[in-house]
Order: sequence, then structure tokens, then C-alpha cells
Amino acid sequence: MIRTYQLSELAAELNGRLHGNDLNISGISIDSRSVKPGELFIAIKGPNFDGHAYAVKALESGAAAVLVQEAPADINGGSYILVEDTSKALGQLGAFNRNQTDIPFLAITGSCGKTSVKEMLAAILDQEGSTLATLGNLNNAFGVPLTLFSVEADNRFAVIELGTSSPGEIGYISELTHPDVSVITNAAEAHLDKLVSVEGVAQEKGFILDYLSPEGTAVLNLDDTFFNDWQQRTLSGSEQRQVMSFSLSNPEADSYASHVETTAEGMRFTLNLKGEQKALTIAFWGQHQVQNACCAAVAASAAGIGLDKIVQGLENARPYQRRGQRFQLDDQTLVIDETYNANPRATLAAIDQLAECEGHRVMVLGDMLDLGAVSQQRHLDVGAYARDRGVETFFALGEASRQAVSAYGSAGRHFETKESLVNGLRSLLTGLDALPVTVLVKGSRGMGMLDIVRSLVGSD
Ligand code: ATP
Ligand code: MG
Repeated sequence: MIRTYQLSELAAELNGRLHGNDLNISGISIDSRSVKPGELFIAIKGPNFDGHAYAVKALESGAAAVLVQEAPADINGGSYILVEDTSKALGQLGAFNRNQTDIPFLAITGSCGKTSVKEMLAAILDQEGSTLATLGNLNNAFGVPLTLFSVEADNRFAVIELGTSSPGEIGYISELTHPDVSVITNAAEAHLDKLVSVEGVAQEKGFILDYLSPEGTAVLNLDDTFFNDWQQRTLSGSEQRQVMSFSLSNPEADSYASHVETTAEGMRFTLNLKGEQKALTIAFWGQHQVQNACCAAVAASAAGIGLDKIVQGLENARPYQRRGQRFQLDDQTLVIDETYNANPRATLAAIDQLAECEGHRVMVLGDMLDLGAVSQQRHLDVGAYARDRGVETFFALGEASRQAVSAYGSAGRHFETKESLVNGLRSLLTGLDALPVTVLVKGSRGMGMLDIVRSLVGSD
């Protein structure tokens, strides 16, 4: 059940001024193209766009009212709230709706695996009670408040993904979310253009711990270099907080995996959770997804869920688009779509995943972007790792990936265009006719490597 608010109530909360009729609001939107009837359209002003230009259009599309920081010249008699800063108001509205409820809020940050853990956790918690989870990847300073405002009165759990690309973001959205369980999947080199180093990444992710509730639980990765730092940061805020740990294989952790096997259905393993064990198969591939499952399991147990439901939920969970989805083209050919994004850690995990596949293995790499000064070295590392793991074919696209090809060796090929790469793949597949082949495609989002998967698979 959606909570409704009166415009006057929201105006008071925001220290804004209501102009026009007082009406009920059933939601908020920052996009005039998708605004729904009854919603409040928030005109966000950014460096390259200004939502104020779409205020009238939003009202024509059914928005009940608009929230602006510049008084509109002509709004056809529609209601509006005038505030100083609409971006800040968006955050305040998210926090306002979040604070209407005392259900557990589980927040997830980290360099890789947030969306995967979120999907797993939501699948577990939803069996126990209606769970609101971040839609897709809406994890930034706009997406998080929108998600917080969508928490409904009958929700029993909320799972919120928190992302960052520059310093300060995690602190801001963590403060709005005010988690009861704070999860950090890992810290790896990503967004180094703004976060500088992996230490900078770990420090930034750690803000999710500063805003953890005083009796809350932090879920931390025992395999990560920064585990101790994060543990200290958690407990220094309040001694009543707890830390729970997960690991791929370390029995010291509250949650870890043993007997891990790759099967056609997904990863099979025994989940060890706080002294109990149960075997399961998840519809995800790669050791990294086993680690993500251990993470989701212990986070769910922090929210009071027992092992049987955790296992059932993990078995029901499915990968989100472009994060390891598998397409069987024919009896012989499997395509793994890892095109959502790439950083060095994720790419090494993808190579591990590929190395465990059958037959002839083909790695298709597009550049890993935003790596600043370490870009060249990390592309070299990835090429060398693919060679060392025995990947039989290495195709690459993009300037930085030339380094990866050179480290892989003379059998690697660099392509100038996606078309020539796809043609190269097609002739390779024709030549390997009788053999099972696995093609894994990975690259940063900006490289648009999905086009290559689409060319092979026929659609998304
Ligand atoms: P984003 O920052 O883009 O929102 P995310 O943190 O939500 O990413 P996912 O979408 O779950 O991460 O996964 C993205 C990719 O990261 C996956 O396709 C996989 O290659 C890699 N990945 C996921 N989990 C891990 C992990 N635990 N360790 C290493 N790599 C991982
Ligand atoms: Mg994500």
C-alpha cells in the first residue's frame, strides 16, 4: 500500500512554500517521460540538464504537482512547491518516507557484486514478508531517494543498493537510508579517476558503517584486505553494534562455502552458516557469485532469517541482466554476457568463470575505463591472467585493451571495430564447428560490449 502525503505536509517538511491547491501525492518522479498520475514531479537542475523545462509537460502527463527551485513563469494553474534546492529536497523526501517505518533496512555497497547480492537477498527476504528492493541499479544520489520514497506501508524489509563514483556519495545516501544492516561486498579498483586508489575506495565505502544504526549489524568480507579497518570503524561508532563476516572458503567466517562445484545448472556448494550447513545450487556461475551468496546469506541471518529459507531464496534468485547471463546458441556454443560493467577485479573473476567452462574458451574484452594511472598495468594483468588460466582465444576492442592483447601473447587479436570483432568471432566459431565453445564478453559499460552479445545471440 502506497503512503500518500499532502502537498502541504511535504512543503512543511522541506521548509518550502506551497502555491496552488493542496493535493494528495502518491509518489515522486524526476523524469517527465515516465511520471505517473498523482505523482509529484521534482525538477532537478544539473550541469547538463534542467528539469524545470519539463514542469508543464509533467503536469500534462498527469503529475499532481511539481517541486521547483525557480518559481515557474507559467504553470497553467498547477500546484507547485518552491524550495531552495530540489536535489536536496529529493533526498529529504526519501528520508522522510523511510522514517515512517521501523522495518529493517539492509543497505549494500562495495565495488562489485552489489546488484547480485541485492537480488539474492531480496529473493530470500521476500519469502518472509513483502520486500522492497532497489529496482535495477538505481544506486546513486537520485536513485536512492527515489527508492526510499517507494517503500510502502505493507513492506516488511527494504534492500537498498548504494553506489558511488566520487567521494562523499556513500556518506550522503547512507545517511538518508540509515541502515539496520550495512553490507560491504568488497573494495576493488574502480572509479579511480575520482577515488584515486583502492584505499580511497575502501574509505569511501566505509561511510555505510558510519550511518549504521547504533544496534545494527555490519556484514563484512573476511577475504578483503580492508576487513579489519571496516570492523574497527563499525565498532568505534557504537559498542552495541555487531560485525558478521562472510568468505568464499575461510571457516573463520560466519558464512562460507565448501565443496564448491561448477555444474550446468549453476554453482553447487555447501553453505556453512553460523555452525549449520546445507547444500544448494544457485543459478549463478563463478566463484565470485558463491562469495556473493555467502554474503547475502549472512546478511539475511542478521535480519532474523533461518538457514532453510535462506537456501530456498538463494536457489530461487536469478542473475540480473548482463551480469553473467548465459545463452546457449546451439548444442556447441555458450555465450556468457558479462557486459554490464568491468573493473580489474570483476574481469579476473570473469576469466576464472570462463576457465571453468568446457571446450574452447574465448575471452572478448572491451576496455576497463576510469582506471587512471593504473590502467595500462591492469590491462596487462588481465591479458596475462587469461593466458595463464589457459583461455584459448583472446579478442579485444578499445585502445587500453591493446595492452591486454600484448600481455596475452601473439595469439591474441585486437580489433578496431565491433563489426570486425563479431566477424572474427563468427569465423572462429565456424572453424571450431565440432567443438564445444564458450564465449565470454566483458567490458566497461561505456564500451557498449552488449552490442557484441546481441549480434551473436540475436537479441538481448
Ligand atoms: P555496479 O557498480 O555497476 O552497480 P555491482 O556492484 O552492482 O555493479 P553486479 O552488477 O552484481 O555488481 O556485478 C557486476 C559484475 O561484477 C559482474 O558481472 C561480475 O563480473 C562482477 N562481480 C560481481 N560480484 C563480484 C565479486 N564478489 N567479486 C568480483 N567480481 C564480482
Ligand atoms: Mg549495481
